[in-house]
Amino acid sequence: MTEKNVSENFITQIIDTDLASAKHNKIHTRFPPEPNGFLHVGHVKSICLNFGIAEDYQGLCNLRFDDTNPAKESIEYAQSIQEDVEWLGFKWNDKVLYSSDYFDQLYVYAEELINKNLAYVDEQSPDEIRQTRGDFTTPGTNSPFRNRAKLESLDLFRRMKSGEFKDGQMVLRAKIDMQSGNLNMRDPILYRIKRQHHIRTADKWCIYPMYDFTHCISDALEGITHSICTLEFADHKPLYDWVLDNISIECHPQQIEFNRLNQTFTIMSKRKLNELVESGTVEGWDDPRMPTVSGMRRRGYTPSSIREYAKKSTVTRKPSVVPMSMLEDSVRHELNNTAPRIMGILHPLKVVIENYPEGQCEMITAKNHPMDESFGTRDLPFGRELYIEADDYKEGANRKFFRFTEGREVRMRYAYYLTCQRAIKNDKGEVIELRCTYDPDTKGGSSPDGRKVKGTIHWVSADHADDVELRLYDRLYNVVSPKGKDDLNPDSLKILKNAKLEPGIIAGSEGKQYQFERTGYFFRDQTHENDKPVFNRIVTLRDSWAKLEQE
Ligand code: ATP
Ligand code: MG
Repeated sequence: MTEKNVSENFITQIIDTDLASAKHNKIHTRFPPEPNGFLHVGHVKSICLNFGIAEDYQGLCNLRFDDTNPAKESIEYAQSIQEDVEWLGFKWNDKVLYSSDYFDQLYVYAEELINKNLAYVDEQSPDEIRQTRGDFTTPGTNSPFRNRAKLESLDLFRRMKSGEFKDGQMVLRAKIDMQSGNLNMRDPILYRIKRQHHIRTADKWCIYPMYDFTHCISDALEGITHSICTLEFADHKPLYDWVLDNISIECHPQQIEFNRLNQTFTIMSKRKLNELVESGTVEGWDDPRMPTVSGMRRRGYTPSSIREYAKKSTVTRKPSVVPMSMLEDSVRHELNNTAPRIMGILHPLKVVIENYPEGQCEMITAKNHPMDESFGTRDLPFGRELYIEADDYKEGANRKFFRFTEGREVRMRYAYYLTCQRAIKNDKGEVIELRCTYDPDTKGGSSPDGRKVKGTIHWVSADHADDVELRLYDRLYNVVSPKGKDDLNPDSLKILKNAKLEPGIIAGSEGKQYQFERTGYFFRDQTHENDKPVFNRIVTLRDSWAKLEQE
């Protein structure tokens, strides 16, 4: 049996029951994004749930764009959403669907409601409609147009459609109950006049249906069995059911609400994400610090690790917040098993091996994965001059520092034991070079006399290393529940322009995740190239935020 996408939860239990009772024999879900922005990690939970359930039950999942609000929607957003869903590894049923595919049918259903005296044209101004709606403590009051003859409403509605009236001059409303305890049931608007070019239907329509009217009918027309949405739609469910109960349509999908994904250290509202982009705080929607799917992709997160994370964030009816470290751990855990190890130096310090012959170069065999032999080995050039990390040397270090200090012997990973003789400083007193000696008998990283060294450090050959730019990403916000600008982490991006990478990597590096030994996981940036190749840090080797999250 292949592993399931979705762990058992109250929704899969409902589905199991529906299949057992033969209420349904094939499960059909849908993911209904509005093409008004990029997908974020919250949407991923919904995607994994809808597409995942369809896959687990050999059912179908539609990708349907909810395009009823033409002012904010674009083809570019719709394309980016399709790309993201495919990248995550899901396939939608048949072709991409749009709510606007049903505009003609929706219009016919609206006339049906008018004919049944269940909808009317209201000529109150938008302000009047708002004021007479009441609130949680005050019931609404009936519109003076509520009881107009249905033929009059029908005539006005047809003329709304044909463009006789100004935007906002009148609306079509459902006739339900202005005293209802549920505000959504107080004669909700079904259609408004809006002269706005639409991404699909162009200028065919000057009236557009509202989301609540459109969504349930689109679900029903597509034969959706379970309409899975987030908790804030629970209050809309009576309206969802009312519409389907009152029009001539056979199918009546079951709306089921679950807890949306909230994540520590993360802002997910599209409006606030857009502000980050517009203000230049980040490079764009795909900035690797953004919680967007495109940002995570550019950073080097894998689809499978994101899906694993979504699977772990429980599906219940209780609001919850998931630690961001759970996402990072999921990425780290996968890459620990799958990423080949290579050597890269973030802050290079030159080492000169004084007793190593000038001009000589030899090959050192290095393992591509310390635990998994199947990754094989590679040969790395080693010579008189190397680069190591600057902080692998410390002047006058005590005995607990196992790396270089004067007189200390350290293992160069897979190569030789080196002893630090002295550091050379510039006139500002900064260390610019280490002078070392090596023991020729320690090739391969062990000594025939059994002499042990405690420290092992990584290195690259100075003559052969490639110059690269590294971008060290950290969390965009440094507080657990960020509100806005004041909570931005000033250290969320550090650019290292003079980093060094072992030779032989760059040419084949596109689309591959690597572990730079001892420093983190890295991924070649697919969109950004300066004078040098750029690698993004995907995630550090260890979690440095855990403490803060537990506070
Ligand atoms: P945002 O508020 O971030 O703009 P949205 O709800 O307006 O998101 P839609 O395009 O309408 O975005 O969302 C498509 C689907 O994704 C909806 O079914 C919605 O319930 C779901 N969704 C959105 N945000 C989350 C989240 N944080 N967790 C789970 N599902 C979500
Ligand atoms: Mg929405």
